Amino acid sequence: MRLSQLKLQFIDHLKDGYPSKEIESFFNILAEKYLGMTRLEVALAPELALNEEQLSAFESALKRLKQHEPVQYITGETEFFGLHFLVDKNVLIPRPETEELVDWIIQDNKELQNLKILDIGTGSGCIAISLAKNLKAEVTAFDISEAALKTARKNAKLNKVDVDFRKLDILKLEKLQERYDIIVSNPPYVREQEKEQMQKNVLDHEPKTALFVDDDDALIFYKKIAELAQVSLRQNGALYFEINQYLHEETRDLVENLGFEAELKKDIFGNYRMLKAVR
Ligand code: GLN
Repeated sequence: MRLSQLKLQFIDHLKDGYPSKEIESFFNILAEKYLGMTRLEVALAPELALNEEQLSAFESALKRLKQHEPVQYITGETEFFGLHFLVDKNVLIPRPETEELVDWIIQDNKELQNLKILDIGTGSGCIAISLAKNLKAEVTAFDISEAALKTARKNAKLNKVDVDFRKLDILKLEKLQERYDIIVSNPPYVREQEKEQMQKNVLDHEPKTALFVDDDDALIFYKKIAELAQVSLRQNGALYFEINQYLHEETRDLVENLGFEAELKKDIFGNYRMLKAVR
């Protein structure tokens, strides 16, 4: 089979589930991965004949795409903040909104030295590792999932940074052992009632513990983290959160009631997605 024929097969099998631009992008990502070619080389080689092994890799990927599995889980990798990350079903696929949160933290802190940073609910480690790479900081990261931490540790190694990863249930913690200049978290914040508007690839494949909270206690992580931060944030320290856009006012009020001064920020899609809190 030739590359151009294979592409037609992909379009044919996926056209009911995805817009054509997305199919094109899946195909390119897979071709880069399985053929070791650049996007340009792929575009210039419609007549390329595929061997058995390559063909079976594409066919198994096609089956998984039909089940709406995210292409990043199929290739096992993604890009975040210009860095390469391994991803699997135990970790959320890093979102562009989270890159904006990381960028905010870096812009605020890039002139400072000897920072101590804590990332709570690190998942793939994308926030912790990007900050370790771009700031003069000692970084610690917690997650409740050992499987996620395993992936996060691989990502730190891949990106040649040291992050102290620890398995921990933040909700059971009474106090933090150390003090930090920056505490950051992108905790679970999606409510049951928001499920309907979620895409199948997220809902059916990404880790539920990383996404969902109880409808009637949706800010549980923000409350707990802000309480811990009340005593564990250093002088001039700051708390940075990724937040639920529909609960931005409630989240702001919550941290203000705990004595913080809050600043909300919109993401590229125009939604209030980030919050910074200082004492
Ligand atoms: N923004 C993510 C989504 O759309 C959710 C991230 C989170 O729960 N922390 O699925």
